[in-house]
Amino acid sequence: MSKYVQDNEWGTKYPNFKKKEFECPCCHSVGKGIATTLLDTLQELRTKKGKSIAISSGYRCSKQNKKVGGASNSAHLIGAAADFYFEDGSLANQNTRVALVNELKNTKYYHWCYCNVNGNYPNMGAAIHFDSNIVDTSTREERVKSLQRALNADYKCGLVVDGSFGPKTEKASHNNYLYLGKKEATNHIKWLQTRLIELGYSVGKSGVDGSFGYDTQNAVKRFQNEHGLQVDGCVGKATHKALIK
Ligand SMILES: [Zn+2]
Repeated sequence: MSKYVQDNEWGTKYPNFKKKEFECPCCHSVGKGIATTLLDTLQELRTKKGKSIAISSGYRCSKQNKKVGGASNSAHLIGAAADFYFEDGSLANQNTRVALVNELKNTKYYHWCYCNVNGNYPNMGAAIHFDSNIVDTSTREERVKSLQRALNADYKCGLVVDGSFGPKTEKASHNNYLYLGKKEATNHIKWLQTRLIELGYSVGKSGVDGSFGYDTQNAVKRFQNEHGLQVDGCVGKATHKALIK
């Protein structure tokens, strides 16, 4: 299953959205693509609220991202984020905006979300920034980038998302190791589960749910056993390294 919206899904699986709305305004590109987790979230919101959604910023190439002063780690650069507003203007009301941000925090693919509150993001106006969870493990570089994003989101590590498993990333994966029952590590656990499944280690019926239960622990143990690692069911530096390979 692709992690990016396919051309034939615009207007069908996502009836209220067009690819054009997500293109970079300078080069009309969407890079590698727009994340399905982002569109799943936006379409569900559109259907639930019955309100038209306008996208003010979707994909940004690095040139455009610099131009608008976006963060160097911005999820807009990987097609995982959108700034949007309701066409009825209801998000001009701060309380409505804040309530929607809180609502979005409980959605399945939530990674990060914010809006302008008392002028703290003046350029955002009435828009909401929603950043979806995407775990792209297609290449070693993407696997590391996805891990870095997850570590930043869950533990505010402030890592540069450069796809290189250097000393800082290694240390962050070690200090924030995963274990049975670990809380507030949703993005990190989703990264782990995605990778385990890909490598043939089932994490049970619930799949990629961001929760480290017994099925995930067993998958980790099987993986460790078959890769000559200490079989403790904890995901520290050595297990991270082996999962990235
Ligand atoms: Zn561009």
